[in-house]
Amino acid sequence: MAEKDVIIGLEVHVQLNKLNSKLFCGCSTRYHDAPPNTHTCPVCLGLPGTLPVLNRGAVEYAIRVALALNCDIQGETLFYRKNYYYPDLPKAFQITQYDFPIGLGGKILIKGDDGEEKTIRITRVHMEEDPGRLVHAGTIDRAKYTMVDYNRCGMALLEVVTEPDLRSPKEARSFLDKLRNILEYLDVFDGDLEGAMRIDSNISLVGGERAEVKNISSHKGVEKALAYEITRQRSARRRGVAQVQETRHYDELRGITVTIRTKEEAHDYRYFPEPDLVPMRIADWVPRVEAELPELPDAKRERFVSEYGIADDHAKSLTSEIRVANFYELVAKRASPRLAAVMVADVLKGELNYRDATIDDFSPDHMVEILDMLENGKITDKGAVEVIRTILDHGGDPAGVVEAKGLVKVEDDAVKEAVRAAVKECAQAVADYRSGNEKSINFIVGQVMKKTRGRADPGEANRLVKEALDEM
Ligand code: ADP
Ligand code: MG
Ligand code: ZN
Repeated sequence: MAEKDVIIGLEVHVQLNKLNSKLFCGCSTRYHDAPPNTHTCPVCLGLPGTLPVLNRGAVEYAIRVALALNCDIQGETLFYRKNYYYPDLPKAFQITQYDFPIGLGGKILIKGDDGEEKTIRITRVHMEEDPGRLVHAGTIDRAKYTMVDYNRCGMALLEVVTEPDLRSPKEARSFLDKLRNILEYLDVFDGDLEGAMRIDSNISLVGGERAEVKNISSHKGVEKALAYEITRQRSARRRGVAQVQETRHYDELRGITVTIRTKEEAHDYRYFPEPDLVPMRIADWVPRVEAELPELPDAKRERFVSEYGIADDHAKSLTSEIRVANFYELVAKRASPRLAAVMVADVLKGELNYRDATIDDFSPDHMVEILDMLENGKITDKGAVEVIRTILDHGGDPAGVVEAKGLVKVEDDAVKEAVRAAVKECAQAVADYRSGNEKSINFIVGQVMKKTRGRADPGEANRLVKEALDEM
């Protein structure tokens, strides 16, 4: 539900985790399954005397993202030092961007709560380095000690900041899903990796101060934390307690947010230009990067509608994940595109979701085979669903499953024979139908399905029964 009194803006930290090396050193980005502190060097450990060397690929990826989010790319961009002391930040400053970020003034289209397309403005996109990761022994508020892992330290991050254009937790979720989708289309980001996206959510009620809920790593977590905040802020307002500007932590286990610090304690970061990095002129890069941008979700969705003649809802569902879109397109080139849209969007996606599986767990060849059998009338819709489920649960191939489970659609003659017999046996239902009770036809169709052991197409059986009754 869109809620008129709710204002939400997001600051999203995105790891450019498809790069091979970190932002300012040659350390590998593939640390996710590695023991702590094995992907480090003097540069990312912040040892004295080391110098950062900018990863050119990271700048290219950042321009790609800023362009895809419709930002104006700054011709010249600059790094700053943001000074603060924290155990995950060995240099005691973070190299980040400040007043000359790479991109300004973009937008993302989402589906708003009213069902209409809605524009969420992007304030800025800037580059920075990721700090290390603190690992608490237990929960953050009760840990006896905390360990630090510097593997993540120095990873290239983008921060994407929105204007306060979101009006509900659900819209925030839609925004994050869409952003992730775009980043994966751009091939700069793998959202499945731990810590790939971390979100600070700012939320206020109209006329009130805002709370910033820091560092949530799942889209669902953001949605829940925001819902909690709405309830909390409304109830405080009813009791006459004013919201102060503050930073809060979301406790996922307890499903609540708790205050960390208020504005009075806000840091002064003493930003100043990083003396070890020169300003970058990137204006000349932009035309080339722009020319090489891949097709993005909204464009792909429109093309699927026009090229394959499928419904917009199906096109939207099929393009909401790059891997699903690629799967669909592979299949649509070799089978009926419309049938493929129904089977992939309405059936396969649901069955995968139910099993916590991904599209990589199903073979496009198998889907083509299933669609062929459907189109040739060898199996029914119901049979196709059964084949998909069986393969997901037990493996095998479509022809084998159809054979083993006896899913071959009963031949037309056999169905006609079953209809004749059912009409003969169901004298009462026939009489009811004749006296105007149209629903009694369902009983007769039921008998036909029983006689064919469910292997007739129900729509077809219905049509044949009606035909037989009308001819009587
Ligand atoms: P800061 O630097 O203190 O984090 P910014 O002005 O950069 O503050 O805003 C950060 C985020 O807060 C942005 O995503 C913005 O959309 C959001 N925001 C600004 N005003 C509000 C508000 N009144 N309610 C909710 N979010 C807000
Ligand atoms: Mg902030
Ligand atoms: Zn390093």
